[in-house]
Amino acid sequence: MAAYDEVRVLDVHHWNESLFSFKTGRLPSLRFRNGHFVMIGLEVDGKPLVRAYSIASPNYAEHLEFLSIKVPDGPLTSRLQHVRAGDPLLIGHKSVGTLVIDDLRPGQRLFLFATGTGLAPYMAIIQDPETYERFESVVLIHGVRLVSELAYSSFIREVLPGHELIGEMVSRQLVYYPTVTREAFLHTGRLTTAIQSGQLFRDLGQPPLNAETDRAMICGSPAMLKETSAMLDALGLAISPKAGEQGDYVIERAFVER
Ligand SMILES: Cc1cc2nc3c(=O)[nH]c(=O)nc-3n(C[C@H](O)[C@H](O)[C@H](O)COP(=O)(O)OP(=O)(O)OC[C@H]3O[C@@H](n4cnc5c(N)ncnc54)[C@H](O)[C@@H]3O)c2cc1C
Repeated sequence: MAAYDEVRVLDVHHWNESLFSFKTGRLPSLRFRNGHFVMIGLEVDGKPLVRAYSIASPNYAEHLEFLSIKVPDGPLTSRLQHVRAGDPLLIGHKSVGTLVIDDLRPGQRLFLFATGTGLAPYMAIIQDPETYERFESVVLIHGVRLVSELAYSSFIREVLPGHELIGEMVSRQLVYYPTVTREAFLHTGRLTTAIQSGQLFRDLGQPPLNAETDRAMICGSPAMLKETSAMLDALGLAISPKAGEQGDYVIERAFVER
């Protein structure tokens, strides 16, 4: 398993029957940019079974955190969903990814568009003080099917504003907009519909998307990625051409290429 280090699971939280998150130890050698992903997994029949996972904890935290889907017959997650504190987890040496604020041109308002587990990299990004230094306002939009899939909702609303490092910035600058498609909730419907109909901006009391001032990140299902990218393109926002080159918005390219 030379390509992978081994860390221990510290804590597991099951949000519902299809979603869980877990904390692990962290080796000092793993350095990453908030928004990056890393390969993680389990040893199965003496071989590593690994998948890409966004790191949900910020890069200054001592532990690592991951938010995971449970695919019933998924090779990794059918096993991973049973991990418990103390179990070993394989983790790659290197983190990578295109969902980083460095690849965004300067702007005033940052939109973070997520569906499902696409929220994970934003959990690191909204805990990064640099995010609030670079953008006056950060709007996190999380689209899910069921209310129980709104992972970290109370952490974002109730815990983060009291965070000793970033609490003040979060209170002043972060807006959280969860939306649910298959159950009654405060905000319902698909996030792309909420933007196109203008409902999102009416609810937030903020002006509509504007290519001059707004920057964005997109992470989630391939369908949402495609639709949201097309919408931003039509509004005149330019995608970052590749890692290390700035644009008005970035996407997780590895998700698209799957
Ligand atoms: C860059 C990148 C980052 C990723 N980050 C995460 C993450 O933070 N959390 C996470 O749970 N997954 C993430 N994934 C997906 C992850 O790599 C695995 O696909 C997932 O863990 C399922 O693994 P599996 O072996 O059980 O099933 P797989 O054989 O990998 O997938 C089986 C099927 O399940 C569906 N599926 C897979 N992942 C998801 C998902 N996250 N949400 C909805 N449907 C899914 C797809 O239809 C897929 O074809 C990421 C993928 C990429 C490329």
